[in-house]
Amino acid sequence: MATIGFIGLGNMGAPMAANLLKAQHRVTGYDIVAAPLKMLGEKGGHAAASAVEAAAAGDIVITMLPAGPQVRAVYLGPDGIIARAKKGALLIDCSTIDVETARLVAAAAAEAGLAMLDAPVSGGTIGAEAGTLTFMVGGEASAFARGEPILKNMGRTIVHAGPSGAGQTAKICNNMMLAVSMIGVCEGFVLAEKLGLPAQTLWDICSTSTSSCWAMNNYCPMPGPVPAAPSNRGYAAGFTAANMLKDLRLAQAASGASGAPTLMGAAAANLYQLLVDGGHGGLDFSAIMQFVRSAGTKP
Ligand code: NAD
Repeated sequence: MATIGFIGLGNMGAPMAANLLKAQHRVTGYDIVAAPLKMLGEKGGHAAASAVEAAAAGDIVITMLPAGPQVRAVYLGPDGIIARAKKGALLIDCSTIDVETARLVAAAAAEAGLAMLDAPVSGGTIGAEAGTLTFMVGGEASAFARGEPILKNMGRTIVHAGPSGAGQTAKICNNMMLAVSMIGVCEGFVLAEKLGLPAQTLWDICSTSTSSCWAMNNYCPMPGPVPAAPSNRGYAAGFTAANMLKDLRLAQAASGASGAPTLMGAAAANLYQLLVDGGHGGLDFSAIMQFVRSAGTKP
């Protein structure tokens, strides 16, 4: 049993912390919102009054926050996790953030004598609940060896991608590919609908054909074929369109800095920007289906 401080109990963090409790770890959690703290208490966890209180309670500190600015705010400074964590604690940030912040925070941790991993995840809320996430991890091999058994309580595939920042690099590439494939699946289902082919028939064929992909097989944006998908609950997130836009922007920034050509990634970023500007940033990212539909013209 490990003692774990868990900060950020949102759509992903709450089920991840619940899986740590199921694995018999002692979890002290914190979120700026009260509701998930109450739920953690009901599942056997402990609620802290601040991020540093949760962090100071753990030999392992895990964060699952929205983006880079929150990660910097929570980790850095005299009242940050790095200054207040237990001596020898292992810090694991599972948020999806920019590579630069991941490296900066890990360097600050190293300066304070603390090991740190960037360990963003793939698999969505379904994977977080089922404990089947994929973790892509950046950091020293010795830190990875310490963190891997804990991450296994929340995920099925744990990959050491390389030094600090390597996990975030893998993650932004993954999400850019996911956004592009999601939009492609939406366009296919809308075209089939216009041509009179039922969604279930298209799914039965394509989910075992060459267009088969996670966006279609596990998370189909057209209501019907995949009962657990957000499309069947009014596109309630899940993984929000705003968070997908954030990741696409991270990918575009990295693409600009590295000179990698990401033309489809840029198109996907533009479409998600329109969805978010339309006031739908809180919906699941598969709600891009509604945008694709509304962009259609009458023949
Ligand atoms: P979320 O917005 O549901 O959860 C973030 C939580 O952090 C919220 O509960 C918020 O109140 C809390 N928070 C914000 N600032 C805080 C602070 N200073 N101190 C303590 N708590 C604070 O987001 P999410 O969907 O759980 O995603 C979290 C991260 O995981 C993001 O970086 C996202 O890109 C990534 N991610 C999400 C999914 C998904 O399907 N939802 C999948 C993979 C990766």
